[in-house]
Amino acid sequence: MPKKKEYSHYLCKDCEFDFIVPAILKRKVNCPKCADSIYVEKLMDLWLERPINYKRPWTKEEDELITLGKEQGYTYEQMSKSLLGRSPQSVRRRLQNIRKDEANAGV
Ligand SMILES: [Zn+2]
Repeated sequence: MPKKKEYSHYLCKDCEFDFIVPAILKRKVNCPKCADSIYVEKLMDLWLERPINYKRPWTKEEDELITLGKEQGYTYEQMSKSLLGRSPQSVRRRLQNIRKDEANAGV
């Protein structure tokens, strides 16, 4: 069985950009987008076999879960808890993108 390592999930409140780094990095973490650490906040620690690529594409299952969740009145916070490595901010952004795609497709 692959050994799991500890990673930390961070969010830059300035860029609303979330990212994952190995938890072994105890020093101040800089946002990969604005390179600043002022607005970077730790969301949680995760145990993973390998780091989740924060740019990994959303799966159909994830899309369905958040689309349905939104219809049923769940908050971004609640939905992000059922999705590994997705912050409330990324759920919100993803929903915006889904809406945009639907509008473009004329749905
Ligand atoms: Zn930033």
